Amino acid sequence: MKIEIIKRDNNLLEFNIKGINVTMANALRRAIISKIPMMAIEKVTFYDNSSALNDEVLAHRLGLIPLRTDLKTYNFVEECTCKKKGCAKCTAILTLDISGPGTVHSNELKSTDPKIVPIHGTIPITKLTENQAVKLEAKAQLGTGIEHIKWQGGLASYAAKDDGSIDFFVESFGQLDVKEMVEKSFDVVQKEIDELKSALK
Ligand SMILES: [Zn+2]
Repeated sequence: MKIEIIKRDNNLLEFNIKGINVTMANALRRAIISKIPMMAIEKVTFYDNSSALNDEVLAHRLGLIPLRTDLKTYNFVEECTCKKKGCAKCTAILTLDISGPGTVHSNELKSTDPKIVPIHGTIPITKLTENQAVKLEAKAQLGTGIEHIKWQGGLASYAAKDDGSIDFFVESFGQLDVKEMVEKSFDVVQKEIDELKSALK
């Protein structure tokens, strides 16, 4: 297998890969879009919410805010030693404590871990008038796009060329570096093959 980088630009990576077939390329594409762990807000505790949006809608909006992801520190809450309780190895805490009037943006979310923060600070969360306030604590955890779109980290597509090689196009939404996302997708496919192998024994 031989990989040649064609273009690299912030969150975009274009490369040519020789020595794999279209089936393998599709497995990689699927891994990139749906099987790489990303951080997203999963649980929200409300202490105050007098905004026009109810708790469920606000929690849903918070879940969709892309967060920087750190796969070296965090693991899945289901696989964590804390037995799903939520600890520093599987859960990052973000808080929001704000009063109106004004629009509340994603940069108002304060994270206990500087590595797990919103990628974009200008995403509007809700609007508050005078005398309205929101106070909440949100738990961010790892998940995959196959479970919920909020954990999808990017897009991937490929084109088979006449010489048998395959051109790949990968875009990261910013949670992970695009190169790390591609590297991780190789690990994911390898793990699936290993699991299949051991199941056949
Ligand atoms: Zn834990």
